[in-house]
Amino acid sequence: MESAPNRPTAEEIAGLVVKRLVEGGGIPDLANANLMTIEEQTIKEVDRVTQIVISELLAQQSQEAEPVTSCPKCGKEMTPKKAQHRSLQSRRGPVKFKTDVSHCEACRLDFFPSNENAAV
Ligand SMILES: [Zn+2]
Repeated sequence: MESAPNRPTAEEIAGLVVKRLVEGGGIPDLANANLMTIEEQTIKEVDRVTQIVISELLAQQSQEAEPVTSCPKCGKEMTPKKAQHRSLQSRRGPVKFKTDVSHCEACRLDFFPSNENAAV
């Protein structure tokens, strides 16, 4: 995957952001826009992209991570539950993704397959 010939470069990704900002109305009057406006709109747009990237990576991570089989709190066997939508706050804004969930009947807690095994 890393060496795929169609892997976009950072410049190509940046080019898409520029196109969105100029043609998509983010910076409607580029000729008269000052640095502050350009910077604010760029950060806003790139933050949106960052949130989507983080969400996608977290969803992929939940697919690749080992499922939680025994409760991190009491050690009892966990029951797998249907995948759930989860929302987290990143430094670049909220991120939403779908993740598998394991449930402990004894503790009445749900655990996600992540490094932290965070309980809900
Ligand atoms: Zn438990």
